[in-house]
Amino acid sequence: MTAMAGSTELRWGGTSDTGRVRSNNEDSFLVQGEAGLWAVADGMGGHRGGDVASQTACQVLGRSFTHRTVDGLANAVRHANAAVYEVSAGDPELAGMGTTIVALALVDDQGEQVLAIANVGDSRVYRLPGDDLGIDLDQLTEDHSLVADLVREGSLSPEEAAVHPQRNIVTRVLGVDPEVEVDVVTILPQHGDRYVLCSDGLFNEVPEPTIAAVLRQVSDPNEVAQELVYLANEGGGRDNVTVVVVDVVDDAGRAEAASAALGTAPSTTSSTARHDLAPPTSDVDGGDEPAGRRARSRRGRGAEGGPRHGAGKPRRVTWRVVVFVILLLALAGGAVATIQWYGRSVYFVGFEDDQVAIFRGRPGGVLWVQPELVENVDLERDEVPDDRVDQIDDGQQHGSLAEARESAGRLRERAERLNAPADERDTTTTSTTRRTTTTTAPTP
Ligand code: MN
Repeated sequence: MTAMAGSTELRWGGTSDTGRVRSNNEDSFLVQGEAGLWAVADGMGGHRGGDVASQTACQVLGRSFTHRTVDGLANAVRHANAAVYEVSAGDPELAGMGTTIVALALVDDQGEQVLAIANVGDSRVYRLPGDDLGIDLDQLTEDHSLVADLVREGSLSPEEAAVHPQRNIVTRVLGVDPEVEVDVVTILPQHGDRYVLCSDGLFNEVPEPTIAAVLRQVSDPNEVAQELVYLANEGGGRDNVTVVVVDVVDDAGRAEAASAALGTAPSTTSSTARHDLAPPTSDVDGGDEPAGRRARSRRGRGAEGGPRHGAGKPRRVTWRVVVFVILLLALAGGAVATIQWYGRSVYFVGFEDDQVAIFRGRPGGVLWVQPELVENVDLERDEVPDDRVDQIDDGQQHGSLAEARESAGRLRERAERLNAPADERDTTTTSTTRRTTTTTAPTP
């Protein structure tokens, strides 16, 4: 789904699954895109407890988010906590239930639109930066768990924590006490940034680099959420898994404002631009720092704490222009590489004239990146089974050449079977291959 939330345009999708081991799904998620609010909750507690806790939390969070501010979000989480606590206190069967929650909201912060992220427990919010300068997944939330505490105090490495038998012990939960401390961070929405809210059923089963790779590969937020859930199940599916993805499609021209500001005197720099591209004041005299370092320093941008600007000496303007040009080139280079990569990262089975063939690329191409013919398949259009012609016309995509070949092979075998004259169908010369076909490709 897509919507203009104020002037920042976002796109989102989400899904949840029981997994392969548990009998019920105690995760819940909330998608209120028009209100600019998304959440994932992972419930716990015997019987129906976990279920009720995560659902109650999401419902009450959604209802209570009436002020689109940072405090409004934190208050809505506190309301959710109180509601779960009350339900739990009023029903002995639900006593002791609780839930984690992560919430992402587009809020107004002193006249500026920012994303606020609230967290209680060990569900997570990640960000995959759109300006892909070698930065991988950014975990924006701090886990409230036993192992995270041990990592913070240095007695456990992150690698040990990831496989620790007690990694499920949560140190802060919604609904077990009448009051709860809520962590909130804010971040400026930037075009191309991708946010992922998820329960531990995702990151306990799928390594972060794989999550990042899938986020780069699949553009539709719903599809990418489904793909991640699929991978969690492939990885074992030992827990419920929930994924919500929110993309910043348009950051209200923040990038443009930033470049305009950099091209002019600092006195005209807008407040939004300050957060994004102006380097910290301490860097002003260190003009020999490599550009890459400077680019990465943007990573920690927050909603406050923009640098001060002094009187614009000419030297300083020149320096800014140089940095700006370097940044621009880096971004453009990154974009070109990304589009090339995206355009060539898949294979598809399609028609080359009236001959079935395997191509590398996306059907129809991506901007200037056109699909390349890899190899012809020994199959003509009029031999292709009728029900598959449209599909091949559109181009049937596969993740690798091997998969594309396999698919083309199955198609050819099926075509042979269908097109073989009736009297040939039982001859011994062909039966061997046909029998093999039947076992590897059960689809008739
Ligand atoms: Mn879980």
